[in-house]
Amino acid sequence: MKIRALILFITCFSLVVFHVSCSRKRSIHRKGRLIWRSRVLTWTFRDPQRLVHNTAHSKAIRDVTRKVFKKWAAILRGRLLFVEVAEDDLDQVEENIMDKRGRNYRKPWWVDIDIVFARGDHGDGEAFDGPGGTVAHSAYPPLGIVHLDADELWTLRENGNRVNLETVLLHEIGHVLGLHHLKDPDSIMNVYYRNLRHGATLSKVDEKAIRKLYHLTNK
Ligand SMILES: [Zn+2]
Ligand SMILES: [Zn+2]
Repeated sequence: MKIRALILFITCFSLVVFHVSCSRKRSIHRKGRLIWRSRVLTWTFRDPQRLVHNTAHSKAIRDVTRKVFKKWAAILRGRLLFVEVAEDDLDQVEENIMDKRGRNYRKPWWVDIDIVFARGDHGDGEAFDGPGGTVAHSAYPPLGIVHLDADELWTLRENGNRVNLETVLLHEIGHVLGLHHLKDPDSIMNVYYRNLRHGATLSKVDEKAIRKLYHLTNK
């Protein structure tokens, strides 16, 4: 029972009805799976509801997100390059992406991958459920969104009672790049979040899967 309590279920969108102005041209089909067409993808971390306590936390979240993109980039052999868009650059145009209720979850058109913390009902028809249960959701190319449930007990360290942000981001970015769930227990794309079993690492299984998806297998 103790082990069961540590297993959290990560549910993720397969399709999101989301007011994103995205073009189909941003992605291409690869055997029924969508992948990113362009080589350079921009990403940002935003906190529209001010759910992150302070700027030190915001910085730490950006640091860990950068690390996650580096891990995926490293096994993609240059096929994708991830470019960070700083928060300062976003502020100048923030008012343009607010919805009527003042919650700007609409993805800014100038970034490919938008990562935000959200709480409960946040306007995309997939309300978060408070602590436990769903910890995050994301969407396949070309939507490029990751929403993290702000009600989880997140941590940037290894802590069995909390949800490790790096592990969850690695999983969700996997979806953002086009990967579906994998059954292999060593894969970061396993549907279950197993706290600290392998830490935040991409396994050989993940490496093989992403390279196959992006035509990199035999290079
Ligand atoms: Zn998932
Ligand atoms: Zn959402």
